Amino acid sequence: MKKRLATVLSMMTTLLLGLTCTAGAAEKPNVAILATGGTIAGSAASDTATTGYKAGALGIDVLINAVPEIRNYANVTGEQIASLDSKDMSDAVWLKLSKRVNELLAQKNVDGVVITHGTDTLEETAYFLNLTVQSRKPVVITGAMRPATAISADGPMNLLNAVRLAACPAAHDRGVLVCLNDQIDSARNVTKAHTTSLAAFNSPLGPIGCMNDGTPTFYNMAARKHAGHTEFDARNLSSLPYVKIIYGHANDDALFVDAAVRAGVRGIIYAGTGNGSIHKDAESALARASEAGIIVVRSTRVGGGTVIPAEQSYIDAGFLDGDSLSPQKCRILLQLALTKTTSRSRIQKMFHEY
Ligand code: ASP
Repeated sequence: MKKRLATVLSMMTTLLLGLTCTAGAAEKPNVAILATGGTIAGSAASDTATTGYKAGALGIDVLINAVPEIRNYANVTGEQIASLDSKDMSDAVWLKLSKRVNELLAQKNVDGVVITHGTDTLEETAYFLNLTVQSRKPVVITGAMRPATAISADGPMNLLNAVRLAACPAAHDRGVLVCLNDQIDSARNVTKAHTTSLAAFNSPLGPIGCMNDGTPTFYNMAARKHAGHTEFDARNLSSLPYVKIIYGHANDDALFVDAAVRAGVRGIIYAGTGNGSIHKDAESALARASEAGIIVVRSTRVGGGTVIPAEQSYIDAGFLDGDSLSPQKCRILLQLALTKTTSRSRIQKMFHEY
């Protein structure tokens, strides 16, 4: 009996969530759009140019007004947080963005947030927000591979889909979402996997849903701790610890590790070969760094799979495992972890939880 009641309730919820995700609902959700620049706001000299344009040239009002259909699904407001090519993204912009997203989502009359962003570091900003947003309301990041001035620009549809997703109660408590090219990915897993294709984003562990003709449809959960369940709070931070990534390769040596130590880093992510393997000449330098109190995390340049404990010498040196996070996401988690603790066991636990 109880089971049947639960099934009926779940069917009703699904139906309600489905209905509220469609146009023309009596009360439209309120979605704040925060713009940071990128190709989605890019302007080129000709409508066939897909490179050599100025990223972040167009303001948020231009982007919103180019897609009037957005207003069928949500009441939107636009705010310009930055106007960057996202290759130049910085901790300062992340902190500003995270604070603003937290402020907005704390307001009763804001139902969700959309962020427009360049695609180059989109996954990093998404993961930073996933770790620092205190709300379970939807946060969706989108961008575009073609500038706004190009024939068949992908930005307008991506923006419309992102707003529809952020306005949809079914997107609640799924962590920060990335939505481009009709695909929904979790901030933790997604990565840019193609330099120019419209299908540029991919999650090695699988996307969590898709936009079916504009309707969000979910197939997977974001299983790791995410926005609204996070211990990291960037609201009172004005800077982040200095953490660098060093890329392993044949014939590697101690040069970059020693330079990083001299520069005063608090942490090093080693993007190793295979299962986070480290060239012996870099390994001895990393062991010295670890001995001196620098947190060393083994990640991998492979692009898929989990880095798990391997050589005894890595364990003896106190190196941590980066789990299935890419090196660039290991860097972000280590930066935030170092704002809380320097305990290796606590930091390792974080890498298994987030
Ligand atoms: N370089 C651009 C950026 O990340 C690329 C893009 O948006 O697609 O801002």
